[in-house]
Amino acid sequence: MNDFRTADDSGVTDRLSRPIHDLRISITDRCNFRCVYCMPKEKFGRDHKFLSRKELLSFEEIERVATIFAELGVRKLRITGGEPLLRTDMVDLVRRLSAVPGIDDMSMTTNASLVSRERAAALREAGLQRVNVSLDSLDDADFIRINDVGCSVRRVLDGIDALASAGFDPIKVNMVVRRGLNENGILPMARHFHGTGVVLRFIEYMDVGSTNEWRADQVFSGREILESIDAEMPLESMQPNYTGEVARRWRYRDGGGEIGIISSVTEPFCRDCSRARLSAVGKLYTCLFAADGFDLRAYLRSGRDDRALKEYVAGIWRHREDRYSELRSRVTVPLKKVEMSYIGG
Ligand code: SAM
Ligand code: SF4
Ligand code: SF4
Repeated sequence: MNDFRTADDSGVTDRLSRPIHDLRISITDRCNFRCVYCMPKEKFGRDHKFLSRKELLSFEEIERVATIFAELGVRKLRITGGEPLLRTDMVDLVRRLSAVPGIDDMSMTTNASLVSRERAAALREAGLQRVNVSLDSLDDADFIRINDVGCSVRRVLDGIDALASAGFDPIKVNMVVRRGLNENGILPMARHFHGTGVVLRFIEYMDVGSTNEWRADQVFSGREILESIDAEMPLESMQPNYTGEVARRWRYRDGGGEIGIISSVTEPFCRDCSRARLSAVGKLYTCLFAADGFDLRAYLRSGRDDRALKEYVAGIWRHREDRYSELRSRVTVPLKKVEMSYIGG
């Protein structure tokens, strides 16, 4: 088992004794999809002002930040967005980040609509190790209703095939389940990926941001997902791969592979949360539900050296006590929360 709390792990810990192990880097706030639960068209329409190029962190700046985080204990980097593959030069970023000392896991989350065979091979060759693809339905009409830009299921499946041909193994496919939107797609997804080697993961719909107007009754719980699959294709539980793994792992009793269920709402896992998030403008968020982040870009562009930046980040982490999901039910005043497309999933 790959437990990250090893003796040589000399990084910082927060007020709840959680190390900083995982950094998610959003490289753009733009997306070619308008998923109704993430970037609804009414809020992200033609007049929405996206970030300009010079507001975004440069790849040099991202590399510098990643190096400092690695010195503080980070071992895993995930590139996300918005849609990260809208950055045409992403291969260059992957090459830089995979060379950062201490990083042993480099991954990306994508909607896979912009993945060609050439691009998949180039990303792999540059050092990308793992890819998570988001796909919320196998039914074209439902999927198009969700992505709201007319993208067919076939296009995403072709992207998954291209990634598999490039050697990404296993590929994880993430399905966010929102009651009334796509829960009827759970079983078709499970049947489709059963026996293929793809690890399908179901994610409870979360109250990230405020533009999606989340309601608790729209959460289709991990328990309900599990029961509906288990009734047709019996499952048994598996051990986590490492401490702090957010997905509960299950395998088909008939040997058809494994699935994961991420019950962020009904079974919060803040206790082991060792993730930091860097937005495309270089703000550091210590929780997905934080109202605001710490402006690392100002620090980076102020001429201060790496040591000062490292101390600044270490100080932020030492003071961290976030556990929003555990406290969710006690929050009575609506919070101002950052959008998922801005902070990265
Ligand atoms: N565009 C890429 C993609 O969709 O894979 C990367 C960014 S997207 C924000 C990352 C993940 O967040 C996706 O799997 C998406 O389904 C998930 N996501 C977005 N809003 C969510 C919500 N309210 N609850 C749960 N997951 C959400
Ligand atoms: Fe884009 Fe991903 Fe959000 Fe969908 S979930 S709108 S693909 S960023
Ligand atoms: Fe981590 Fe915040 Fe999510 Fe809890 S609510 S698991 S602290 S990101």
